[in-house]
Amino acid sequence: MTYPVTRMRRLRMNETIRRMVRETHLSPSHFIYPMFVCPGTGIKKEISSMPDNYHWSVDTLVEEARSVKALGIPGILLFGIPKGKDEQGSSAYDDHGPVQEACRALKREIKDLMLITDVCLCEYTSHGHCGLVQGEEILNDPTLDLLAKMALSHAKAGADIIAPSDMMDGRVAAIRTILDRNGYSNTPILSYAVKYASGYYGPFREAAESAPAFGDRRSHQMDPANVREAIREVELDIDEGADILMVKPAGPYLDVIRMLRERTPIPLAAYQVSGEYSALVAAGRLGWLDLPRVMIESLTGIRRAGADIILTYFAKEASKLL
Ligand SMILES: [Zn+2]
Repeated sequence: MTYPVTRMRRLRMNETIRRMVRETHLSPSHFIYPMFVCPGTGIKKEISSMPDNYHWSVDTLVEEARSVKALGIPGILLFGIPKGKDEQGSSAYDDHGPVQEACRALKREIKDLMLITDVCLCEYTSHGHCGLVQGEEILNDPTLDLLAKMALSHAKAGADIIAPSDMMDGRVAAIRTILDRNGYSNTPILSYAVKYASGYYGPFREAAESAPAFGDRRSHQMDPANVREAIREVELDIDEGADILMVKPAGPYLDVIRMLRERTPIPLAAYQVSGEYSALVAAGRLGWLDLPRVMIESLTGIRRAGADIILTYFAKEASKLL
């Protein structure tokens, strides 16, 4: 049947009918809200390149996390801003680091909020790299022990899900092994399996104070041009024991999310990163884009591509709109 018998516009005539035939749904339960925790008390310091995102001390973070949960968002992703940094990133596996203290306080104060902790050394090393460094090289194997120690320290403090973002080879297995040996066999691993070396991380570097002192992250993160390589990363991480896999960034890599959705039954997360967020917020402030509208459209696109979970700085604002 063709026009005039078939008229596609019949099912678009009003919002009620559009809602009946809508294929992709977005709800606060799909979101995870990333948050940055620093030492001190009473701190809520805005990150200038990421408007309306803050460095929180543990006390203010707990209050904010309460409002996140009240919006129906199931969990938060925690990044730490430590007091001190050194070449080994030793503040990353300090049981009294900001992430560990935040986990303990959140577990004590708030019920049923999933605490996901980022595991990588770049926020904690003086050189800003994701692992131990020798000359200009980021060392893989010696870094695994430190990442595993960091993961265990988070789990002991109350982290519900461990999320390694470092992109070292073998880190999921190293983390799974140390968690299982220490009684945390029920703690899932959300692996940043498919993490591209992206310019969209720019604002995050300010947020996490983690810009590398020399070089870049291209020797461990993926080349933005590659998609077959994502299949290998994903297969390796599943074999090593990952429970959920992530694609990062999200918006520029929707084809990768779709391809993985069709190839693997494992839950998929996608991270709408700082640059995706800040670009839309900036255009909204200039009056060039209708921010609430493109916010929902960008998140719907990520869901439509096949993501089960979206990590997004829009989590709170989008939840208010839905
Ligand atoms: Zn890193």
